[in-house]
Amino acid sequence: PQNPAGAQTSTSVQIEHVTKRFGNTTAVNDVSLNIKSGEFMSLLGPSGCGKTTLLSMILGILDVTDGEISFNATRVDDIPMHKRDVGMVFQNYALFPHMSIRNNVGFGLDMRKVPKKEREKRVEDALSLVQLETLAERYPKQLSGGQQQRVALARALVVRPKVLLLDEPLSNLDAKLRKEMRIQLKRLHQDLGITTIYVTHDQEEALSLSTQVAVMSQGVVQQIGTPQEIFLHPCNQFVANFIGYANFFEGRLEGESGDNFIFRSEDGLVLATKKDQAHSVGDSVLLTIKPENIKLVEGLSGRNSVGGRVVVSDYVGNTTGYEVLSEFGDHLKVNVLGFESFPEGTELTLYLDPAHLLMVAKE
Ligand code: ATP
Repeated sequence: PQNPAGAQTSTSVQIEHVTKRFGNTTAVNDVSLNIKSGEFMSLLGPSGCGKTTLLSMILGILDVTDGEISFNATRVDDIPMHKRDVGMVFQNYALFPHMSIRNNVGFGLDMRKVPKKEREKRVEDALSLVQLETLAERYPKQLSGGQQQRVALARALVVRPKVLLLDEPLSNLDAKLRKEMRIQLKRLHQDLGITTIYVTHDQEEALSLSTQVAVMSQGVVQQIGTPQEIFLHPCNQFVANFIGYANFFEGRLEGESGDNFIFRSEDGLVLATKKDQAHSVGDSVLLTIKPENIKLVEGLSGRNSVGGRVVVSDYVGNTTGYEVLSEFGDHLKVNVLGFESFPEGTELTLYLDPAHLLMVAKE
C-alpha cells in the first residue's frame, strides 16, 4: 500500500528512569525501556499498573516527575506535544462527531497547514491503507465500531508520526472483530515499520502483535522480552500468573534423580521437575504449570501423577476448563482441548509432566 507514514520510519525511543507521581500515588516508578526503531513494544499489565500514564508522558499530555524520554537520543520530554510527531489512537477512538471521515482524517494536516493538494492525497492514502476509501463522506456515527477504529488509525498515521502510540485500541470491539483488527494491525506494522508502543491488559494480544513485551505491575516493569521469552520463561510469579500459569506450589527441592529435581510441597505433594542452573537441592522454590499442560487421565498412577476430583467443568467450545481438587487439597486449573467429558464429581488422575513444570521467583 501507499505509505503515508513512509517518511519517518526510523525512530528509536529511550525511556530512562521515568517516574510519575500524582500526590502520594506513584503511577510509574523508575521505568527504563529502550525501544528500537521499527519495534512493536507492548506495555502489558493489569488495570492501574501505570501503562496509560507512561504512554501519556511519551505523547506529551503529561509531564514526567523524574527521568528522561528521548527519540533517537534527542530529549523530547521537555518539548510540547505537537513538536514530538507522535500519532495516538485512544480506546474510545475520540473521533469528531460533526466532521466527515475525510475531515477527521485530515484534521492533523489542517493543524499543520499542509497545502490542499497534498492534504487530499495524504488523506486518500491513509484511508486506502485502512480500506475505508468508500466511506470518506460519512460521519462517525454512521460507521461500525471497527470502522471507527480504522478511522482513528488513519488519522494517527496521516501526519507521518515518528512513533505510533495505541492505548487499548481494540478493547471496544467484539471478540471476532478484535481478532480481525489484530491481524490488520500486525500487517500494517509489517508494511510500515513504524515504531509502535501498544498498551493492553490482554496477554494474547500482546504476545501476538509484539516484537517486545514489557510486563508492568504497580508502576514497575517486571520483565522485558520477546513474546516467546515472556511466555516460556516468565521471571517471577506475577509475570507467570499474568500470562496464564495458573497453578502454583510452594515447597522445597529435597533431592535429585537423573535430570530432575525432586520437589516436595508444603502439603506433601512430591513432583519431579527438570533441573536448571539457577537452583540446587535444599532451595525453597515456587513451582508452576499452565492449565493446558496438566493431563487428565483415569486410572494412571506413578511419578508426577496426583489423584483428584472434578469440582467444576466449563465447556467453552474448543477447550474445556476444569477445576480439580487434588488429594493434597490444591485447587488446580486444567484446560483440555476439545470436549472430554469428565462431569463434576469424577475421580481421576492428574499428570504433571516434569518438562512443563517451571520454577519461578516469588512475588
Ligand atoms: P487501565 O488499564 O485501567 O487504564 P493503567 O495501567 O493504564 O490502567 P494508569 O491509568 O496509568 O493505569 O494509572 C496508574 C495509577 O495512577 C492508578 O493507581 C491511577 O489511579 C493513578 N492515576 C492515574 N492518573 C491519575 C491522576 N490524574 N491523578 C491521580 N492519580 C492518577
